[in-house]
Amino acid sequence: MNRVDLAIVGAGPAGLSAAQYGARAALNVLILEQFAPGGQVLRISSLENYPGLTSSAFELIQTMQEQAERFGAQFRIETVEKVQREKDFCTVFLMGGEKIQARAVIIATGAIRRLLNIPGEKEFTGKGISYCATCDGPFFKQKKIIVVGGGDSACDEAHFLSRLSSQIILVHRRDHLRAQKLLAERVLKNPNIEVRFNTRVLAFHGQKMLSSVLLETNGRTYNEEVQAVFVCIGLEAESTLIPEVHRDEEGFIICDHTMQTSIPGIYAAGDIRSSPFRQIVVAASDGAIAAHSVSNMLI
Ligand code: NAP
Repeated sequence: MNRVDLAIVGAGPAGLSAAQYGARAALNVLILEQFAPGGQVLRISSLENYPGLTSSAFELIQTMQEQAERFGAQFRIETVEKVQREKDFCTVFLMGGEKIQARAVIIATGAIRRLLNIPGEKEFTGKGISYCATCDGPFFKQKKIIVVGGGDSACDEAHFLSRLSSQIILVHRRDHLRAQKLLAERVLKNPNIEVRFNTRVLAFHGQKMLSSVLLETNGRTYNEEVQAVFVCIGLEAESTLIPEVHRDEEGFIICDHTMQTSIPGIYAAGDIRSSPFRQIVVAASDGAIAAHSVSNMLI
């Protein structure tokens, strides 16, 4: 069995930062990622709020990976199926049957986009419904587009799309946006964005492609013809790896100030962790703290 000091699951900003700090503390570090390094960060159109940095999110991830590798962290593209605490170590089970023995594990698997779970959503996903404006926005230049949500993501995505089309409708179920003030104000002042408060999306309709959305505003239901809808209504925990770990009511992993979970030797960092603020800088900080804690524990 392959043995390492620290196995990190997920190569977003939290996992990459943990890899760098772990390797720099002379730990034998293996980072396992099922897709490409970066995670949710790769969906960001422009990186505005990482302190001291004005490069693109993609460049940030590339640099973080290079730094971690320079300090000796090993990367593998693998899908992890389960992490199990044994007596003195943890076993990481990979798809395909291989097992890795690690003295500690950091779970940095991030979060996935929440769905509306309403009629037509599954049917029209990829046929007019999307969860990533940076990825799919350019397909809908100068089209009528609805963005759903009232948080940072919805405001960021609406702002990005307003450069591609002058017909953006931001639909939010409350009477105010919950996004950070700067992001909210940028949307409210944008002439290409109409903000429709107290509005719910009830269903999606169309033939082969999405063509209209059933909306309800202040109790009145009506059909709105649109070519695209971007759903930006928050995140859900992406973690089925350790079913027994303690979580908050939304499924995010609860950690102490060292990033240790309820299971000794298993740590969590980044969006997967129960946290009031999900940001790249927070994820990077979580990763550094988790790796430092692992290093202290293993001395
Ligand atoms: P969020 O902050 O949880 O906001 C989700 C929004 O969607 C809320 O306005 C919520 O409405 C609404 N919503 C939730 N479920 C809904 C449903 N079933 N139907 C209709 N609306 C629904 O999520 P987020 O905006 O995706 O952001 C996630 C995290 O990433 C946050 O921590 C955020 O700060 C961070 N982020 C930061 C940036 C940035 O700094 N530039 C950009 C993107 C994301 P209510 O208000 O009624 O609850």
